[in-house]
Formats: sequence, C-alpha cells, structure tokens
Amino acid sequence: QLKGKTALVTGSTSGIGLAMAIGLAKQGVNIMVNGFGEKDNAIAQIKACGVEVDYHGADMSKPAEIADLISQTEKRFGSLDILVNNAGIQHTATVQDFPAAQWDAIIAINLSSAFHTTHYALPGMKKRNWGRIINIASVHGLVGSAQKSAYVAAKHGIVGLTKVVALENAQTGITCNAICPGWVLTPLVQKQVDARAEREKITNEQAKHDLVAEKQPSGNFVTPEQLAALAVFLCSQDASEVRGAAWNMDGGWTAQ
Ligand code: NAD
Repeated sequence: QLKGKTALVTGSTSGIGLAMAIGLAKQGVNIMVNGFGEKDNAIAQIKACGVEVDYHGADMSKPAEIADLISQTEKRFGSLDILVNNAGIQHTATVQDFPAAQWDAIIAINLSSAFHTTHYALPGMKKRNWGRIINIASVHGLVGSAQKSAYVAAKHGIVGLTKVVALENAQTGITCNAICPGWVLTPLVQKQVDARAEREKITNEQAKHDLVAEKQPSGNFVTPEQLAALAVFLCSQDASEVRGAAWNMDGGWTAQ
C-alpha cells in the first residue's frame, strides 16, 4: 500500500528518525535522509531494505536550506508523500540561566523547521490529494518538566501546528498528526544520562534507571522501533481519519 511512495525524515541519521526511515523503507517507501550524524551508516541500513535512498544535508534551522531540501526530494523521487518532522535538539537549564542563543536554536530546529517543511511540501501533496505529515513532538508537547523551557515550548507549539495543519486539510487525503514519545534511549537522551551519572556520582546503569523511574511508570524506555511502527500505522489507509491527534507512547508518563 505504501510501496513506491517517498518519505523525507528530517534528522534521520540516528535515533528515532533513523528507526522511522527504516520502518518506512521496510514498507517499500523510498527515503530522503537528512541530519548531521553518520549518514553512510544510515543510508546503508535503509538501502538494505531494497528501496531508493538519497541524502540532503539541510540545516533545519535555515529556511532557505529547507526549501532546497523539499524541492530536491521532489525532483529526485518525483513526489514527497510522507513528511516526518523529527530533527530536534535539547538543552537543559533553568529559565534564568538559559542562553538566548540556545532558546533560538531549539525553537528554530524543533518547531519552526516543521512549519517550513510543511509549507513547502503541501502544494505537491495537495496536487496528488494524498499525504502524511507526522510531527515527532514529545510528552513535553503535553506536559512540562523543569529545566526544559525551550524544548517544552517548542513541543507544545508543534502539537498546536499539528492541529491547524490537520484542520486546514481535513477534507483532503492529507493527514497531520503528532507522536509524543516518553523517554527513548537515543544519543539525545544518553547525554542527559551521562550528565546525571556525573552529577550524582552513580553508574551509567543506575542513572538510566533513575531517569526512567522518575517519570515513566512502566520503568522501561520506549524503543525507536515501537515509534516507527506507530508512524507506519499513521501512514496507512486505516489511519486516514486520524487527524490532528497528539498520540503519546510514553510508558504511562502522561496518564499520571
Ligand atoms: P538524536 O540526537 O538521536 O537525533 C536527532 C537527529 O536530528 C540527528 O539525526 C541529528 O543529526 C539531527 N539534527 C540535529 N540538529 C539538526 C539540524 N539543525 N538540521 C538537521 N538535522 C539536525 O535524537 P532523538 O532522540 O532520536 O530525537 C529525535 C526527535 O525525537 C527529536 O525531535 C526529539 O525531540 C524527539 N523526542 C525524543 C525523545 C527521547 O527520549 N529520545 C523523546 C521525545 C521526543
């Protein structure tokens, strides 16, 4: 059903984005990879699924580079059918200590980039009357945590953007939804584990355990592969009336 379609996954050189790209590739979806990580490794893993792959190194904080990313994807594959807005960064500090440059970077990469990609991707999706826009938000799009002002503001913002894009396209074949993961052990979270281990003079294992136990009732990390399976479902025909949802997969975090 998805075979032969094209997906752009922003920030797909590692973590959740790479798992999304592989999950979609396993359905026969061609992939445009983006991100600053180990691109050759990402491309090889996706290619092994038997699909076409290309890479574009657009910096998601730069609107002109995003415009080029979308037009190159359409040119290379003939269409852009599935847009996964995934690229994201984190910085932790209290509001009074938060560097303004970090605030601006997080808002640009975690929020504004999704406006720009969606803005440029919609005309093609409308022409074909089919599209799936999936925004990787976070539980922090639904609830707050101390020390994460920019991240929480950006993620709440992307949940709002998701609703508006869903509504504006409600009578078309284009859906827009957000996925809200709890803790997932990726490079982005490993940094927070390392900081905790150092601060509290505990082992890496203990730091991981404590980090999850604090917020996530299941006591388990969510895996990138579980999130990819949800994204594949949201791309399916069965999900065509899921519109404007902020779908959490968080081990019970936001049920509390
Ligand atoms: P990650 O660090 O493994 O991946 C982030 C990706 O974004 C990488 O490919 C990186 O190169 C790319 N990237 C960063 N800045 C970029 C830029 N300016 N331009 C282009 N690409 C850029 O992190 P992850 O945990 O896989 O995060 C992916 C998304 O999932 C983020 O939006 C994050 O906020 C969200 N998320 C993560 C968790 C978690 O627990 N890991 C939980 C909820 C939401």
